[in-house]
Amino acid sequence: MNCVNCGRTVPRSKAMSYERRTRFSTDLRGEENVQCFGSVDSYYCISCAKHMGIGEKKKEMLQRRKERENRA
Ligand SMILES: [Zn+2]
Repeated sequence: MNCVNCGRTVPRSKAMSYERRTRFSTDLRGEENVQCFGSVDSYYCISCAKHMGIGEKKKEMLQRRKERENRA
């Protein structure tokens, strides 16, 4: 698979997956305004993931989940 940021080929085991939520809208008012929601799985190489803070975000989320569990 290819890193969506730099296009480098990344082995699957080393690719960082990142789920992006996307929203498309026609920006029209009224009934013709169509909105589509979806999520796209993007893959980044390790250096791009680091650069964009994707790995850190995942760590942060795990940390927060732990804190919540401790509080409960
Ligand atoms: Zn990359």
